[in-house]
Amino acid sequence: MKLKLKTVFVLYFMVSLLGLVYALMQLGQRCDCAEHDLPKDRTISWLRGELNRLQEQMKKSEATRQPQKQASKSSLPTIFVITPTYARLVQKAELTRLSQTFLHVPQLHWIVVEDSPRRTPLVTDFLMQSGLTYTHLHVPTDKDRKLQEGDPSWLKPRGVEQRNEGLRWLREDRRPRPGDDRQRGVVYFADDDNTYSLQIFEEMRSTQRVSVWPVGLVGGMKYERPVVEGGKVVRFHTGWRPSRPFPMDMAGFAVSLRLVLANPDACFDGEAPMGFLESSFLKGLVTMEELEPKADDCSKVLVWHTRTEKPKMKREEALQAQGLGSDPAVEV
Ligand code: UDP
Ligand code: MN
Repeated sequence: MKLKLKTVFVLYFMVSLLGLVYALMQLGQRCDCAEHDLPKDRTISWLRGELNRLQEQMKKSEATRQPQKQASKSSLPTIFVITPTYARLVQKAELTRLSQTFLHVPQLHWIVVEDSPRRTPLVTDFLMQSGLTYTHLHVPTDKDRKLQEGDPSWLKPRGVEQRNEGLRWLREDRRPRPGDDRQRGVVYFADDDNTYSLQIFEEMRSTQRVSVWPVGLVGGMKYERPVVEGGKVVRFHTGWRPSRPFPMDMAGFAVSLRLVLANPDACFDGEAPMGFLESSFLKGLVTMEELEPKADDCSKVLVWHTRTEKPKMKREEALQAQGLGSDPAVEV
């Protein structure tokens, strides 16, 4: 489309220029023969015709481009993606991977919640140049709730206060005001280290209450998933405590914004027993029978609970001890 408009503009410019040059050439010239004028007149009227045609064409393409874009955008429900994140060596790499996936998703609003007492310059600058629609929040995890160095990762749930902060912001920002339609949307919790296919966002966009799908590489399994019979979720395929109310990973469900707004107290309970964090949020919102299975009746894995290895810094530390470490001014 860009190329076409450019071509039209160049043509338009050339035709105008030709017309102008021609008119200038005629200025002050005496005309003594009527036959001479005939081809010139024809050329002028042909040029005029061309000019009109091109002008019409430009007008038409302008008129159709704008409304089309606006209509397709505003008709899509917004996907609000809440991502807890914390400072570590791989943080910028994780956020880069995530943001470049999100750039391919139309009508996505990224709510990034830093686990820190203030917004960090790294995340602030990163978001500013990301090209995404975003909201940048922060809240530190309580010290006694925070995983300590050497603790096994399952000991305490992570990202709890941050997800709740994202929900708080949404409820404030989207609280119903007379005559607006800003309550249409879908809420998804996307950790910064997982891997998301573009398809999963299109699956979740039609969520009415709570939609669900499989998650790959989670819970010590190839995948966990809701089991669907006759279009309904009847149980869950999981290796551990299938009797939990919602034995699903955070990456395996999305909730409609209306449902979030209609249940102002629904949030994640950081004190919930291990494996019950997702249930603590979902149990007040929906029943198993009401779950909306996506991804071909939960037969396709479109999101993976990947985890990034902690980089080893042995050589960096050795060099630092000699005063030869990497330049701290270089952001990694
Ligand atoms: N997270 C956080 N603070 C922390 C640890 C983790 O905000 O102290 C975030 C992290 O960036 C991720 C989410 O919480 O988006 C889940 O953490 P993690 O991936 O470590 O959990 P796991 O995948 O092991 O369940
Ligand atoms: Mn993770």
